[in-house]
Amino acid sequence: MLFSEFALLCEKIEALASRLEMRDTIADLLPGLAPDDLPIVVRFIRGLIFPDWSSAHLGIGPNLLYDAVAYVAGWKRSEVIALVNRTGDAGLAVEHLLKEKTQMSLFAEELTLGDVYATFLKMADTAGAQSQKEKLRNAKLLYSNASPLEGRYLTRLMLEELRIGVGEGSVRDAIAIAFQVSPDSVNRAHQVMNDLGEVARIASVDPNALLNVKIELFRPVKMMLAQAGSIEEMVAGSGEVCAEYKYDGSRFQFHRSGERVAIYSRRLEDLTAALPDIADQLSNVVSGDVILDGEVVAIKDGRPMPFQTVLRRIRRKHDVSAHVDQIQMLPFVFDILYRDGAGLIDLPLSERRIHLESVMSGCIAPQIQSSNPDDLREFYHTALGEGHEGIMLKVPGSPYIPGNRGKHWVKCKPEVETIDLAVIGGEWGEGRRAHHFGSFLLACQDDDGSLLPVSRVATGINDEMLGLLFDLFKDRVISTTGKEVSFEPGIIFEVGYSEIQKSQNYGSGYALRFPRFIRIRDDKRMDEIETLAQIEDRYRRFGSRLDPGHDPAREQ
Ligand code: AMP
Repeated sequence: MLFSEFALLCEKIEALASRLEMRDTIADLLPGLAPDDLPIVVRFIRGLIFPDWSSAHLGIGPNLLYDAVAYVAGWKRSEVIALVNRTGDAGLAVEHLLKEKTQMSLFAEELTLGDVYATFLKMADTAGAQSQKEKLRNAKLLYSNASPLEGRYLTRLMLEELRIGVGEGSVRDAIAIAFQVSPDSVNRAHQVMNDLGEVARIASVDPNALLNVKIELFRPVKMMLAQAGSIEEMVAGSGEVCAEYKYDGSRFQFHRSGERVAIYSRRLEDLTAALPDIADQLSNVVSGDVILDGEVVAIKDGRPMPFQTVLRRIRRKHDVSAHVDQIQMLPFVFDILYRDGAGLIDLPLSERRIHLESVMSGCIAPQIQSSNPDDLREFYHTALGEGHEGIMLKVPGSPYIPGNRGKHWVKCKPEVETIDLAVIGGEWGEGRRAHHFGSFLLACQDDDGSLLPVSRVATGINDEMLGLLFDLFKDRVISTTGKEVSFEPGIIFEVGYSEIQKSQNYGSGYALRFPRFIRIRDDKRMDEIETLAQIEDRYRRFGSRLDPGHDPAREQ
């Protein structure tokens, strides 16, 4: 496939209003694609370059792209940035610049989809001192061969934000229609393989094979998640329940085959190099080839330290060994997904637990089973007393469903209303905050992943955090209007609030009352932020608890 054909497809989809039309357009296209192009199109169309399980990244920011396009189009860098600010969309700005290009490239070649993907692979592969130069060279190469429309989508792909509104669900349904398989089998294969590109390839060759796909070592799957709930509801729903402490640390998935080990974060980034002590502790107590799920916790004087301590260790890229001894990091394993060639995710939790206890001689999170709410309440208070966040309740008969946030796992912790939202903009501060961003604009997502503003947050940010946030956001500025800036989305804040209100001021139709910054959630991915439907649900639940005239802010 030519990249120009892919760009035309994106343009066509971008103009469609209905998700069903998008789905059908994709479904019509897939069966005719060459086998090598099929997985690439399936990923690119969602704005993804690599499989979901892969921790590969292009590792380029908007500034590098502005340099590349400035060079190819013969403009000044400052002019490029001014144009991006005016259009508010780097893709459209690049398209415009390539139209206005002062000199035609003499040796321009038509880009194929495969060329573009191969160049992206090269970009992701370069590391070390020369890597930015090398990435810049490759970006220039792509732009010099690109038509204006190709430039629009190359830019958006490289920034990992395609903005054509195609969500994971539409692509899954399109694969099911294109290859006449059930959406459930596509969904399940996707949960197990964590790469829709590969799922589409298998569906195109042998739809029956979708039923036999297996979880694989060193291809992490999304982690199973929990809903908020209560002991009483859980016991009423399933009788006997399993309960574990809810550790306030960082989630990990541990893969081991022989001597090779890897540790992945909840966002499926490879953390092996940052956590050598965890890899050692687990390797010492595990026998055989396994995939394990657990939480790593920082411990000082026998008590868990706040979650931020673990994050600090994980983010430390250099000098890891010097810091290994300063804080004790302990892994608590609560699940097993794979053992010696066999996938275990379809087994009930109670059977997985038996496997877990027979492959490991330590590091297992203690678990109790009970149908008595009093026992579970006592366990909950012990957990809090020992400094943990609360408890997790799990249905003993439930399978492990990667990425699922259902009723099989329920978290019980003391009530504080918090919400995870994407940071999409900010405002330059005043006075003490003059050289920093003083407030941040937050957004939730709707069904197709578009971001809808829901609040601003300025309180709860101390001076140290203000500096840290400035460093984090200064290279993410896409456009500036007066004091307002918009940011390349990708960073998530957890904020506390006292109430959700209906509001005309924000695109979501809702606003948070008394929003307060709590922390950066760099363990979460953008598709995990709060959805509009969840906000509506919170609004309804909270609203029904209120008496008329009640002021929730006075509750504390
Ligand atoms: P939350 O981030 O509040 O949605 O809570 C879910 C998170 O709790 C998971 O992603 C884990 O990181 C963490 N967690 C802590 N202890 C457990 C446990 N025993 N079982 C499952 N998840 C746990």
